[in-house]
Amino acid sequence: MCGIIGSIGHKKVVNDVLIHGLKRLEYRGYDSAGLAVLTTDGLKVVKRKGKVTELEGDQTTQKIDGNIGIAHTRWATHGEPNEINSHPHTDCAGKIAVVHNGIIENFYALKMMLVNEGHKFKSETDTEVLAHLVEKFYKDDLEEAVTRSLKLVEGAFGIAVIREGEDRIVVARRGSPIILGVGHKKMYVASDAPAVLAHTKKVIYLNDNEIASLYEDSYTIKDLKGKKVVNDIHEIKWSLEEIEKGGFEHFMLKEMHEQPDAIANALRGRISGEKVKLTVRFKSKNIKRIVIVACGTSWHAGLIGRYILEKMTGIPVSVEYASEFRYRDPIVDSRTLVIAISQSGETADTLAAVLEAKRKGAKTLGIINTVGSTISREVDSGVFLHAGPEIGVASTKAFSCQVTTLVLLAIHICQDLDKSVSPDIAQSLVKLPGLIREVIADRKKIQSISKKYQKYTDFLYLGRGINFPVALEGALKLKEISYIHAEGYPAGEMKHGPIAMIDPNLPSVFITPDDDSYEKTLSNMQEIKARQGKIIAITSIEDEKLTKLADDVILVPNVPAEISPIINNIPLQFLAYYIATAKGINVDQPRNLAKSVTVE
Ligand code: GLU
Repeated sequence: MCGIIGSIGHKKVVNDVLIHGLKRLEYRGYDSAGLAVLTTDGLKVVKRKGKVTELEGDQTTQKIDGNIGIAHTRWATHGEPNEINSHPHTDCAGKIAVVHNGIIENFYALKMMLVNEGHKFKSETDTEVLAHLVEKFYKDDLEEAVTRSLKLVEGAFGIAVIREGEDRIVVARRGSPIILGVGHKKMYVASDAPAVLAHTKKVIYLNDNEIASLYEDSYTIKDLKGKKVVNDIHEIKWSLEEIEKGGFEHFMLKEMHEQPDAIANALRGRISGEKVKLTVRFKSKNIKRIVIVACGTSWHAGLIGRYILEKMTGIPVSVEYASEFRYRDPIVDSRTLVIAISQSGETADTLAAVLEAKRKGAKTLGIINTVGSTISREVDSGVFLHAGPEIGVASTKAFSCQVTTLVLLAIHICQDLDKSVSPDIAQSLVKLPGLIREVIADRKKIQSISKKYQKYTDFLYLGRGINFPVALEGALKLKEISYIHAEGYPAGEMKHGPIAMIDPNLPSVFITPDDDSYEKTLSNMQEIKARQGKIIAITSIEDEKLTKLADDVILVPNVPAEISPIINNIPLQFLAYYIATAKGINVDQPRNLAKSVTVE
């Protein structure tokens, strides 16, 4: 999520490496930026809220320099994006500095242990425990102290650590990327290659549970048990721009590929066996009604949430366009839970809906990607997505994580109400990242199907039940990035109007999982076939009846109904992406749209 850069060997590490490196990494997070340098006067730290230019322009930054330094551009997961929560984080004595990418799941227990031992914390971050742990274990060897600290840590990390009196940078990873850059009498650490490319093309990828010490003209790599390991040095061949997008042509495509990891992050620390642990500030037994407010793709996630929450918890749910909710004197009270869904946490309409709900005394809960955002601060409690920054305007990974989070929330409420939940649901959630990888692996097939359809000017998307909102989302994705007219409808509603449109020039995309409504959806397909309509079917069932009706079939893994919208939506993202890019559209910035809609 965040960007890390560090270096040893340059005379002026701040000006030569850190600021430039941070700018190259800013796409990974831009809540705040900070750096720590070992100067002749000891460890110096500067941190600033906002973009890297704030840090660069600061007088203190201009005054300090040295030959060992680490820096960070943050994408907050724990604690607001303010100056105190910015990285690097330091120990009590101010001798150790740590930058971290990831989430320390057991930070609270570790923090309590350290506080009891007398450590003084300054920030609300999970990261700060690392600085104090290293302080606790430090005798005379920084690598040993970091190794001992990491043995206590659960979660994901890519870290870089420096300490006064140690002529090295210690780095380690588990779950978050770390690369080492090898220069001439200079070494670098970064969370991504663009940050070091101006200095070297030689990089080493650190593996999970490896720790390295970087010196001016050498380095060592060990596993966390202390055994030496040898990793290959790779030569980077990509251009800078290609690397920022991880080799993908667009951020949108990169984010679609990131979905397995994003979902794993959304689940991290929240699910164990069949049990779900969420920190929310409402008592389920006091909630008589749920109202979901959202816009655009988040509203579609909300519609899916209604099916999930009503079916699993038995609590009635309504889903409102946030832009309508606030203007119609909504009926909510203290026994209503209003759930606001927003990727950015800044959507003006959703924020206004939250304020209206609060004014009327409702309990509010945010399902938000961006920590510290306005909505996340306004709601009574929140569940962050931890999907990482979403840069492509058309939402993909945030949507998948929103639905995942709604399933977690439904299980949480059921646990609170002592309602039984099928163990299949939790098990399938855990398997979801792997299943999505399978769908993504099939993208070439979707690309070749898209070629047949890119000339059409209108599309119909059809689904039933919990997959009806997937039809809406598939149609929206196509509209947003390809400018092709598309409509989503409940498949059973088609005969009440849209069927008049069907002819050989209007293809229909059917979401047809192996569920209770499968046979009925096949009948709807028949109705379209009888009128020479073309059919693309997304399905989890290999069935001759369907293959005879559909012109093209995309097979996806079979999962419980509650999870199926997440899986079924992935091929629709790829279909829209390939159709739009074949038309030469920059899908990252489609016309007339903005990423975070902060106007009403
Ligand atoms: N969990 C850490 C924080 O919230 C690191 C986040 C990041 O990867 O930027 O500060």
